[in-house]
Amino acid sequence: MLQARAAAFLLIGLMLVLAAMAGTTAWQDEGRLDLAERLQYLEDPQGQLLLEDVRTSDDWRRHESGTFNKGYTDSRWWLRFELTNEQAQSVRRLLSIAYPVLGDVQVHVLANGESRDFHQLGHNYPFHQRPVDHRYFIVPLEWEAQESLDVYLRVHSTSSVQVPVKLWEPQTFYSHDMTRNILHGIYFGALLVIAVYNLLLFFALGDRNYLYYVGLVLAMALLLASLTGYGFRHLWPAANHWNEQAILVFIVGVLLFGAQFTRRFLELKKLAPALDRVLLLMMGIAAVVLFAVPFMGYRVLVLTLIPLVVVGCIYAFACGLYAWRKGQVTARYYVIAWSFLLAGGVILALSKGGALPSNAFTDHAVQIGSLIEVVLLSFALAQRINVERRLRYEAQAETLATARQLNRELEERVQERTRELETLNEKLNELSVTDELTGLRNRRYLDDALRQEMERARRSGRPLAVALLDIDHFKEVNDTHGHHVGDECLRLVAEIIHSGLRWPADTACRYGGEEFAIVFPETDADGARTVVERIRERIGKTRIQVEDLTLALTVSGGVHAQVIESTTEPDALLRCADEALYEAKGSGRDRTCAYGEER
Ligand code: GH3
Ligand code: MG
Ligand code: MG
Repeated sequence: MLQARAAAFLLIGLMLVLAAMAGTTAWQDEGRLDLAERLQYLEDPQGQLLLEDVRTSDDWRRHESGTFNKGYTDSRWWLRFELTNEQAQSVRRLLSIAYPVLGDVQVHVLANGESRDFHQLGHNYPFHQRPVDHRYFIVPLEWEAQESLDVYLRVHSTSSVQVPVKLWEPQTFYSHDMTRNILHGIYFGALLVIAVYNLLLFFALGDRNYLYYVGLVLAMALLLASLTGYGFRHLWPAANHWNEQAILVFIVGVLLFGAQFTRRFLELKKLAPALDRVLLLMMGIAAVVLFAVPFMGYRVLVLTLIPLVVVGCIYAFACGLYAWRKGQVTARYYVIAWSFLLAGGVILALSKGGALPSNAFTDHAVQIGSLIEVVLLSFALAQRINVERRLRYEAQAETLATARQLNRELEERVQERTRELETLNEKLNELSVTDELTGLRNRRYLDDALRQEMERARRSGRPLAVALLDIDHFKEVNDTHGHHVGDECLRLVAEIIHSGLRWPADTACRYGGEEFAIVFPETDADGARTVVERIRERIGKTRIQVEDLTLALTVSGGVHAQVIESTTEPDALLRCADEALYEAKGSGRDRTCAYGEER
């Protein structure tokens, strides 16, 4: 927003300059005389006529109106007019021909039929020959009261033959000239500052867009300097003939840098390869012209370049519009900038063609348009950096966010996987210590549990009890009714054993085939026996229904309890319980015996 406001201020500033330029015509009309109305001219196609010949010639014709303009022609053009001093004293005036690209201008001044003065002007001749140090062709005239001067001009140029002749009071001329010089100084100064600034930006940022832009600005400034005569006056006063070539070289410069800048700035290669190739073709033609400059005449080359410039400008403008329509953010600045230059060109062309009045504004429309264009393009370049930076930040932020999201998802998945594995592990663990048939703990679990409980019992000094239960005559059940009935019985017995345990710390497991073991922490033999008896009785009372059978089973139990000392092995404990079980079996089954008990 700040930039937009700055740009607006700049534009307003330029408009003020423009208004001042237009204003100069209004308050300085006095003191100058446009000689266009008084001109007579004569064409010398072969260039053989001398002053004596034309003075007496009958071929003189009256020039109608407006600037004398014969376009591109090989003829020598003679112009003449008469100036009479109607005042009572002698006067001094300045004769100006304000078209600095004329190659050869001879000025003959005659008084009373006698030659009084002669000047050889034009940029084919060194600058120091000029009677007045000025970018235009200026000839001082002085004549007595009531005296008449006949002025003959002979003009020949490879550029178009335009001869805007005016007569000035010296004071008026110089004050008028000062204003123009200041305004041109502002123009060239602004272009130079912009060029240097952007060159520094190129060094700082390394973006070649800036370099092409600097090339465009400098080529434009130098072209205008050549066309306005400032180049010959200030930059290459001794290099006559170069001025013509300079015009060609700088037009080519504008074309090459302008096209290259346009291609890069609008990113045409990516956006519209076909449009891009046309610009490349134009650049190719311009480059060929550049190489032809030392070898070929000015006229043929400039007549090649002028259409190329006109088409190129319109084409670049159209490319900008296309890029804008395609949604390229900075293209609109480009289009607006370019339209100022185009407008300048159109205004100048219209004023030259007579459709618009020629005044300070229309005469300098290209300068004004190009200055506004250059300023706006500079702004557009800055804006481009801005846009690029924002896009980069956005892309970075997006990448970062995506990375974070991926990370989060990955972490979640890993956690989920870990949880699954943990659950699976738990299940596996559970399975590995569970008896499949009965759902009780298995022998492996018993070994570990017993070892732990023995350690705990050793520390606490309290007794630890174990019991073994064995189903009586179970082989018969299997043999009579089949294995599956036996399995069903095992399941039921296991259930009764499990539900017979009241303390959470008591653990029952399937010890082997139809044998079960129970560990009772902190329990003595009597306690353990009570529990085993209760279980045994419940089994004895239970009628087991399998299919259409009703079965009754009994179990025998052996218990053993002891206070654990460090030397005791788990097996020793079980062996004692087993002995007690053997005891129970031996003494008639369906009973519980304790180890070492009196029978
Ligand atoms: P007692 O213990 O009263 O001396 O007689 P018993 O018939 O139970 O004798 P023993 O302990 O020698 O026989 C165990 C029988 O238990 C052998 C087998 O038929 C049965 N048995 C062992 N494991 C399983 C099992 O997993 N399923 C089934 N259905 N039967 C089993
Ligand atoms: Mg057995
Ligand atoms: Mg048995």
